[in-house]
Amino acid sequence: MIIITDEHCTGYSSAGHPERPQRITNTVELLKKQTELPLTWQTPSGGVSDDAILRAHTPEMLARLAVPEDFDGDTPYYDNIATLARTSVSAGLDALRLAREGKQVFSLMRPPGHHATREKSMGFCFLNNIAIAVLEAAATGGKRVAVFDFDVHHGNGTEDILLNRPGLEFFSVHQHPAYPGTGAASRGRNCFNYPVAPGATRETYRAALTNALDDLKHFKPDLVGVSAGFDAYARDPLADAPLLAEDFHWLGVSLRQIGVPMFSLLEGGYSRDLPELILAYLKGVAGK
Ligand SMILES: [Zn+2]
Repeated sequence: MIIITDEHCTGYSSAGHPERPQRITNTVELLKKQTELPLTWQTPSGGVSDDAILRAHTPEMLARLAVPEDFDGDTPYYDNIATLARTSVSAGLDALRLAREGKQVFSLMRPPGHHATREKSMGFCFLNNIAIAVLEAAATGGKRVAVFDFDVHHGNGTEDILLNRPGLEFFSVHQHPAYPGTGAASRGRNCFNYPVAPGATRETYRAALTNALDDLKHFKPDLVGVSAGFDAYARDPLADAPLLAEDFHWLGVSLRQIGVPMFSLLEGGYSRDLPELILAYLKGVAGK
């Protein structure tokens, strides 16, 4: 299993913001300490062409990243955010390449991406890492490319970007109602939403995940990109969902069993147990 991360992605922060550098540094610490899962570490290659980004975003949105003003109440401007966001994108593209080489890979980077729409940075997200990666996959030979998003929040940005694009399907399991308010029903020909009410039981949440996984398999993807958010965890401070570490392990096992190249990018997850949840997922993906 290859972990892609670097020290730059922990070099920016905003006081009191839940999307904080310790999410990464604490996870790196646990992953380096544990001995059950052999890991290889890699830094993002860094270079991303504007062309790759502009498949997903407007030129105006890309230019806006250089304007030193907050994007919304949740999404502050940070010095150098354009470079930081592009580095996170590059890690996603590296993950795609490695998956196609038959490797197991997880991008442990920030900022996350799945709320960034075609036109707007929002919800802690600046550029949509997963959408850029799967559009690259589709532009370079992928015929049936899927995104599976198990972050507790709806991947509104990914849906906005991928809506009705041929050869791409999007599956999102999330709490609803919750931020950002979208995802109550499926949209278009290719965006499938599995909303779960706040306070649902584990059985109910697992049933929604199982439905989404069944539909994903039915699509017969040749490649799966995973928006791996860990905020559907029972003790996450930002949601009211019921999952436990063993459920994230099961998700990893289930996605691996589809049997096609897959790569995962970190989205949300704000509890102090995030490192254990990521490790459980990675073990599942690795078949341990
Ligand atoms: Zn989230």
